[in-house]
Amino acid sequence: MRKPILIGNWKMNGSLHANQALMVRVLPRLRMFRKTIDLAVCPPFPYLFQVRDLLGYTGIALGAQNASSFVSGAYTGEVSATMLQEMGCRYVLVGHSERRALFAESSLEVAARYRSVLAAGLTPVLCVGETLAERESNQTGLVIERQLQAVIDEVGLAAMANGIIAYEPVWAIGTGKTATPEQVSRVHQEIRQFIANSAPEASDDISQQLRVIYGGSVKAANAFELFSLADVDGGLIGGASLHADEFGTIAGAL
Ligand code: PEP
Repeated sequence: MRKPILIGNWKMNGSLHANQALMVRVLPRLRMFRKTIDLAVCPPFPYLFQVRDLLGYTGIALGAQNASSFVSGAYTGEVSATMLQEMGCRYVLVGHSERRALFAESSLEVAARYRSVLAAGLTPVLCVGETLAERESNQTGLVIERQLQAVIDEVGLAAMANGIIAYEPVWAIGTGKTATPEQVSRVHQEIRQFIANSAPEASDDISQQLRVIYGGSVKAANAFELFSLADVDGGLIGGASLHADEFGTIAGAL
């Protein structure tokens, strides 16, 4: 039985004041779900310390939005996974489509970051998904398989069981367009099948253990339908995670 998980990705939003105000409103709405689902929020790096304190002993975990593939050294602007671990993070997003598209992170780069997150004892949340052009040219399966394969090649299939996969169609992120339940179901099943086929002797357990969550314009109005799908183990929520009522209702849908 896979425990559902809900992760809020704040992206590059927030301020000391706004974070405090958001947490004061959102924590009472999340607390009641913390036994039945895993919950996490991923603020920008400078606010990790503040948000860790605000989360306190609520049982809601802290996550980060990226991590370097390097452990330490002359890598100006990078933040290592061990630093994130020291700051109290449990989860790290890896390969978010905004990183891939706007900051040219290749699948190889993403795989190296994934490895460093695992090595620090944290849970990587590997984001995969197709652009609109790729979907319209029937490349969805191929694109996602390549993104997954890069990580399998880097860390091995068994290590995938320690991570989470977030299916995030690029055309649905921050656009207000949500994938239909049929589209989500199909890709989630394909992801699980791809993992199962990758090493048939051991893969059944891994593919059944692995949490595959959905992200892309999830909001209170569509969360119940999306989260009722059999292969959807939770959500990665961007914009709506900045609104306490909305995020609370989404948590209640899991
Ligand atoms: C995201 O940032 O991962 C995301 C899914 O964003 P949004 O919910 O705003 O589409």
